[in-house]
Amino acid sequence: MIGGGVVGLCTAYYLHQEGHQVTVIDKGKLGTGASYVNAGYLTPSHVIPMAAPGMLAKGFRWMFNSSSPFYIKPRLDGDLFRWGLKFIKSCTHAHVQQSMQAILDINILSKQLYLEMQKKGAFDFHLETKGLLMAYKTTEAEKEEAEVVSKAQDLGLTVNQLSREEILKMQPEAPMDIAGAFWYESDAHSTPELFMKNLLAYLEKEGVEFILENEVKQIKTKGSIIQSIQTTQQEIALDELVIAAGAWSATLLRSLGIRLTLQAGKGYRLNLNQPSGINLPAILIESKVAVTPMKGFTRFGGTMELSGINHTINKKRVNAIAEAAKNYYPHLSIPEEVYTHVNCGLRPISHDGLPYIGRYPQFSNLVLAAGHAMMGWSLGPATGKLVSELISQQQPTLSLTPFAPER
Ligand SMILES: Cc1cc2nc3c(=O)[nH]c(=O)nc-3n(C[C@H](O)[C@H](O)[C@H](O)COP(=O)(O)OP(=O)(O)OC[C@H]3O[C@@H](n4cnc5c(N)ncnc54)[C@H](O)[C@@H]3O)c2cc1C
Repeated sequence: MIGGGVVGLCTAYYLHQEGHQVTVIDKGKLGTGASYVNAGYLTPSHVIPMAAPGMLAKGFRWMFNSSSPFYIKPRLDGDLFRWGLKFIKSCTHAHVQQSMQAILDINILSKQLYLEMQKKGAFDFHLETKGLLMAYKTTEAEKEEAEVVSKAQDLGLTVNQLSREEILKMQPEAPMDIAGAFWYESDAHSTPELFMKNLLAYLEKEGVEFILENEVKQIKTKGSIIQSIQTTQQEIALDELVIAAGAWSATLLRSLGIRLTLQAGKGYRLNLNQPSGINLPAILIESKVAVTPMKGFTRFGGTMELSGINHTINKKRVNAIAEAAKNYYPHLSIPEEVYTHVNCGLRPISHDGLPYIGRYPQFSNLVLAAGHAMMGWSLGPATGKLVSELISQQQPTLSLTPFAPER
């Protein structure tokens, strides 16, 4: 398996459970990147794919504001251009209608699997099922979210509208300056670093092999069979190859003559280590900032910056996240050290807002598990289980058709 992010580790977990001998290869040491800096949400609420009507107009408006939550760096890049064209084509009502059930089903499956893992107790992690607040200040944001709520309710999710006073009763030590919020009871939240660290230790103890600080440079094939991979340090033979390399997956596939439409979407996180009084996870709708009460600290995360594969920190966007936090929680003070310890990660963004999970017809022993965008944390376990079922030639728990890599 190439990639030891949440998708790679969860896939290793389920493959190992099925009795496969698994090796995870990663170019890093594990401990940084999207799977560590994310907001930790499990998101049955996110039924609307990222590619949806309205996104184009919004994205265009935001692009001219240097502290906005969404940014595409203009550049001459054929892959970005192809991704953009396919993204625009996917921003339709028909696409939203077609995708919602599949997105919900895989999110619900994944949440069940997280809860199963927690109940099993093979490794320790933090997971709370307190739902998610979508908090708004303006009538415009309330109206926009009400449309999503109506779709979510049609699909069977429980969503309640709460007043500012009701929220204050639930979270008395962190008064919010908002008009109200929609409360999606379906959602849950966790602390990514704890899950990743303890799952890694558990897999190592169970005999899964980890080859770290080895970048895969070449994938060697014979006809339709992948035979081995060449890293910076060694050649490794294999029976099955899973590419779970997040935002880097397109680069790896290109060497096989496969063009995957995928872009890196950078996001930032700030950790506040002092008590904040915040006990409810919330998305601050107007600023698109995610707030999560994690184990021992509060995390603020946001922005979607399509500027290629790089980890450059844009201070303006980081400041915008902190300002939004103070604007919605006026009691908060954010010390200087929070800004100096800011970190970022790259979301792997497919063109239509759905992940890529499945095989390619050209190769009999290649599986792709990537492109989870804003839902990769949520969908780690479900992806791992579906990949394991595919490799073990079992009936998949969910249809893989909506996630077919060659769509
Ligand atoms: C700020 C922020 C907030 C987020 N919040 C949420 C959230 O609340 N809920 C949610 O569901 N999702 C969230 N996400 C998205 C989620 O974090 C990602 O979708 C997810 O982590 C992707 O996981 P992955 O395993 O596919 O990729 P990654 O975690 O990026 O892992 C890929 C791994 O592949 C390795 N790799 C790449 N190329 C090679 C190579 N050639 N050789 C060897 N190794 C290689 C990399 O080193 C890396 O370790 C958020 C993301 C960000 C940035």
